[in-house]
Amino acid sequence: MKRRTFIQSTLAVGVSGALGTLLGCGPRGEVPQSPVTFTPGQEMPWINWAGNQSCTPNWRVSPSSEDELVTALKAARGVVRAVGAGHSFSAVVPTDDTLISTDLLSGLVRHDPDKIQATLLAGTRLHDMGPMLQSVGQAMPNMPDMDYPALGGAVANSVHATGTSFGSMSSYVTGLKLATVSGELLECNAEKNPEIFQAARTSIGALGITSEITLQNLPSYDLTEVNRIEKFEDVFADMEARCKAHRHFECYPIPYSTLCITVATDIAKPGDKTIGEDDPQAVNTLRTVFDAVSWVPVVGEGLYEKVLTAAMGDAADVVRTGPSYQVFPHVRIVRFREMEYTVPAEVGPACMREILGTIRDRNIPLSFPIEYRYVKADDIWLSMFEGQDGCSISIHQFGDLDYKAVFAEIEPIFWKYGGRPHWGKIHTLGAEQLAPLYPRHWQDFQEVRRELDPRGQLMNAHLKDLFGV
Ligand SMILES: Cc1cc2nc3c(=O)[nH]c(=O)nc-3n(C[C@H](O)[C@H](O)[C@H](O)COP(=O)(O)OP(=O)(O)OC[C@H]3O[C@@H](n4cnc5c(N)ncnc54)[C@H](O)[C@@H]3O)c2cc1C
Repeated sequence: MKRRTFIQSTLAVGVSGALGTLLGCGPRGEVPQSPVTFTPGQEMPWINWAGNQSCTPNWRVSPSSEDELVTALKAARGVVRAVGAGHSFSAVVPTDDTLISTDLLSGLVRHDPDKIQATLLAGTRLHDMGPMLQSVGQAMPNMPDMDYPALGGAVANSVHATGTSFGSMSSYVTGLKLATVSGELLECNAEKNPEIFQAARTSIGALGITSEITLQNLPSYDLTEVNRIEKFEDVFADMEARCKAHRHFECYPIPYSTLCITVATDIAKPGDKTIGEDDPQAVNTLRTVFDAVSWVPVVGEGLYEKVLTAAMGDAADVVRTGPSYQVFPHVRIVRFREMEYTVPAEVGPACMREILGTIRDRNIPLSFPIEYRYVKADDIWLSMFEGQDGCSISIHQFGDLDYKAVFAEIEPIFWKYGGRPHWGKIHTLGAEQLAPLYPRHWQDFQEVRRELDPRGQLMNAHLKDLFGV
């Protein structure tokens, strides 16, 4: 039985009939909450996946070759920005001048079976990369929890997954080609243009547009993922052991409850079988229950906790097994907005506890489970994991609810723990606060940026804030 069906049936039996009718409201959050209205005959706006960023570019270009990309970038008018899949929540893409889409720069360029490396065009979507790499016997060592982004967009923001032995996607980049606003195409790796390489592996699109990217992969492999409902305190008491025991481990504490969802992923063993199925609507069901009963007090603990424990406490595990590129990603159809900070790994549990306590103490209206992951340190200048193992904590709010007020309550907790914001997610920091978070290489990055883009053509309003331009 799917967990959602299980909750619904439990509610129908255990709670009043009035709640039953609430559950009949149907799925929510599937329709993008668009910030702009499209008027036929008028300029077509660009909107991100989350529907919280938009712009109306005067010029749109979709180069289909490296030559076309170089020409487009050199000829670009006004502020020029690249767009991959538009899956960032922060305002890294918007420009009302020139928007360059990398959609047509897609495909496998070459592969090296000895080094297990592959070079792909930067507009290739992660969901296309899986089968492409599989066809040459390779697979990415790790992947984020969905596969919609383009490779270039993911690398620009140091996109990551979970696993104490695994770095972000940027950390697997061994080389790239970068088109600049001056019309150059620079080959960058540890030997050629090494400083630009260190900056371009997490560039937020501030140096130019990558045309191709070489990744260090692994021989292709199968995974098995086990999803379980557990007590938050049991999981956190055992966190270190679990992170060691599993190739990948993450969890999602559920606000206002003692429960969390755990996800443990390992190399598949012979005989592993898929059991149950992923329910992309589960968060909507949780929200329905939260809206219906969270305000009802019950002696000792809230009704919400009781209902959740009754409904989910002994729910069966959901197991997914198959090729790695099919097991890592999940379907994300419920629209949300997200803030994520990476704190030093050792303070992750304290930060998580303070967030959950604050939500409860201040009655913050947030039912969306909080994502808790670990990522290995790297040496990439502006990567959130530069110089330190990180614990990434993500706060999500439903796309039709006010995220600003909720994030404003929680963001200062991340600052207290020395958190670095995810470049592609919502935060309010500018250059003054960001520079001290990257003490080793903030200035190095600015020098490379000024050298490659002296007139600031790649600086939209958001990047100007980030870099103090
Ligand atoms: C449902 C959902 C789930 C998510 N899950 C995760 C997750 O598990 N882990 C995680 O880390 N993030 C996650 N994110 C965040 C998201 O994946 C990142 O912000 C990612 O960078 C988006 O990639 P994109 O191709 O959509 O890039 P875009 O949003 O289109 O662009 C991102 C940045 O990259 C630049 N850029 C794009 N292409 C190039 C290029 N070829 N060369 C240079 N710069 C370029 C853009 O100018 C911009 O600055 C999630 C987002 C959503 C919506």
